[in-house]
Amino acid sequence: MRDDAERHPEIREAVRALCAGFPDKYFREIDEARGYPEAFVDALTKAGWLAALIPQDYGGSGLGLSEASVIMEEINRSGGNAGACHGQMYNMGTLLRHGSEAQKRKYLPRIAAGELRLQSMAVTEPTTGTDTTQLKTVAVRKADRYVVNGQKVWISRVQHSDLMILLARTTSATEVKRKSEGMSIFIVDLGQATGKGLTVRPIRNMVNHETNELFFDNLEIPVENLIGDEGKGFQYILDGLNAERTLIAAECVGDGRWFVERAKKYAGERVVFGRPIGKNQGVAFPIAEAYIEVEAASLMRYAACDRFDRGEPCGAEANMAKHLAAKAAWEAANVCLQTHGGFGFASEYDVERKFRETRLYLVAPISTNLIFSYIAEHVLGLPRSF
Ligand SMILES: Cc1cc2nc3c(=O)[nH]c(=O)nc-3n(C[C@H](O)[C@H](O)[C@H](O)COP(=O)(O)OP(=O)(O)OC[C@H]3O[C@@H](n4cnc5c(N)ncnc54)[C@H](O)[C@@H]3O)c2cc1C
Repeated sequence: MRDDAERHPEIREAVRALCAGFPDKYFREIDEARGYPEAFVDALTKAGWLAALIPQDYGGSGLGLSEASVIMEEINRSGGNAGACHGQMYNMGTLLRHGSEAQKRKYLPRIAAGELRLQSMAVTEPTTGTDTTQLKTVAVRKADRYVVNGQKVWISRVQHSDLMILLARTTSATEVKRKSEGMSIFIVDLGQATGKGLTVRPIRNMVNHETNELFFDNLEIPVENLIGDEGKGFQYILDGLNAERTLIAAECVGDGRWFVERAKKYAGERVVFGRPIGKNQGVAFPIAEAYIEVEAASLMRYAACDRFDRGEPCGAEANMAKHLAAKAAWEAANVCLQTHGGFGFASEYDVERKFRETRLYLVAPISTNLIFSYIAEHVLGLPRSF
């Protein structure tokens, strides 16, 4: 492995050591039971890894996105799935950048210490999907409260989080100049809200990913839970997306490296027609191609991290990294499954589980077409399509 691909070796080694305590069997059994990897998330939290991006002033380790990306990558590279806890890494960024000092003091040290989880962010809605500015959930101010009504879909980790960031409309779309104005973000205390205006309905899905439909029926949120200025929520959410996309790219790099490693190993060991299948170029070349694409995606991930960590605009790099890495991981998944032949379908090899898990990232948190749309419009200057 080249130097750049092995950035932050000390962090890699420590995360790998922690992950070694949670081998394939652990994640396989959690997947089969549709469970939550509670012990794994606890261990990561106790070791401080999920507080990597929280500044030292608030009890975290104040690391950069480059280091954080390596933590996420190593989880997936070890055979695990960071999807159970990655929200904790980037959701707090919204609070950090736009929250008041009082809000930061109230929540961040407790998140860093593992006393509170901020794993969830509620943006997507069933009737508007990717067209976020058209969302229908409303928060109406009444004295010292906001009253929330509406519905969200695909909101992850709500059952394993204490706090959730909610995007809702506070000024009607007909009363604002630009459709991106008039939305606000709030911190929702899930313990207080659930059953008292918030109903959570789990969605069974292809992966073992805890995700839910949310129904808001006159949920009351104290005004002090508004983050930043009323009406600027959409902008605040956008600010956080580059970190999210870059970290997801890193997880895909981790998946890709896992698939390449497993394919390589199996191709070297499996003997058919009296020789290892990897001796056939028809088997070896797709593995080599998958390797090349995963390594290229990894470099774009670092390009995004470096710009983010220098405080420079990184929308183009974050989107390109997410696209390249999700695609490379998915192609590596296909190659790994094909290399394993029938055994690729057997749960005990873990290939089919990782195959399902990595497929998600071509759709969420942003789908391929929406990345193309961003690059076409904002990087290439092509005419806007919506
Ligand atoms: C397991 C899972 C977990 C998730 N977790 C969260 C979460 O925690 N919080 C949250 O807010 N959301 C979450 N999501 C939602 C996710 O971000 C969305 O599913 C995703 O952004 C796509 O939106 P959509 O499903 O509404 O698709 P749609 O917007 O309905 O789009 C459907 C398809 O049409 C394409 N399309 C739409 N419009 C255009 C266009 N103009 N041009 C070209 N193509 C277009 C899209 O690319 C997509 O492929 C999650 C989703 C999943 C599946």
